[in-house]
Amino acid sequence: MNKKMTGSNKTKPVFTIGRYFKNKFGEKVYKIPISISGFTCPNIDGTVAKGGCTFCENDSFSPNLQKKKPTFKLHPSKPENPYLNEQLKQLEVQFLATKNKLEKKFGVGKFIVYFQSFTNTYAPMATLKALYERALEFDNVIGLSIGTRTDCVTDEILDYLADLSKDKEIWVEYGIQSFYDITLEEINRGHDCSSMKDWIIKTKQKGLKVCGHLIYGLPNETQEMMMESLRQTLELNIDSIKFHPLYVVKNTMLTKDYKRGNFIPITEELYVDTVVKSIQKLPDNISVQRMTAGIDDPSLLSPMWCKNKHQQMLNIRKALLKVGLYY
Ligand code: SF4
Repeated sequence: MNKKMTGSNKTKPVFTIGRYFKNKFGEKVYKIPISISGFTCPNIDGTVAKGGCTFCENDSFSPNLQKKKPTFKLHPSKPENPYLNEQLKQLEVQFLATKNKLEKKFGVGKFIVYFQSFTNTYAPMATLKALYERALEFDNVIGLSIGTRTDCVTDEILDYLADLSKDKEIWVEYGIQSFYDITLEEINRGHDCSSMKDWIIKTKQKGLKVCGHLIYGLPNETQEMMMESLRQTLELNIDSIKFHPLYVVKNTMLTKDYKRGNFIPITEELYVDTVVKSIQKLPDNISVQRMTAGIDDPSLLSPMWCKNKHQQMLNIRKALLKVGLYY
């Protein structure tokens, strides 16, 4: 497959999600991120915790987000959703805007609609079905990718998605972050590692594709711990992975810890080294969807190297080349 030698420089390409899609569909597939108002998260609305993960910028801490409409928030136990038509409109507007840009720049391709913001299975079933099925009707859409938490899926949701996956490419993206309960508690994650494992295993057993998200640089975590979280993630037979450095943005609980000197962000050197070591550990069938993240706006407090994603990518690519890998 993917990690074959390429030419005289003897580097092997990293198995990216782009390569996975190209192999499977014979052409480029673009993920179109969507953010639908009204979705929230049980870790924000008080169902499992309040305030959200310590690094999450949400309306518990951000007056600007609080002012954004709607104030209406979805909850799985409340079947009524007076905002559904507006949400369907948002979905269409966002999808078409990005699709048109991509088509102008790259020509026609295939698309995956990526429900990205907040917890995209945390809503009544009828709302989920309406949004997912509308997304699958758009031209050239071959599937969905749904970002969520392992405590926000049910057998009913997974069975429904498994049914959709008979004809479409359906991915579930789980925020794993760490496989240390002490860390999950520290970041106010609102669930533990063992329930997370159970639901990932179940999702795979139902035949769905899983992308796991890991954060490197979480409070008090050493490189050994980050690599251990990766090891346990890979044991779950997931299909794809995203790596993310922990950075501090304003209006989060982490801001307070950072300002008090209780949280020291990861250095770029350690992050790059950990990501490179992680990629070296990946089996050939697990694709990489993201190696890092950046935020080039004034909300970033630290570390400032996270401001420039382009530079980060150059540094990671350079470090990968040193170990014979090409991204
Ligand atoms: S699970 Fe996601 S949306 Fe919910 S609080 Fe954590 S980061 Fe925010």
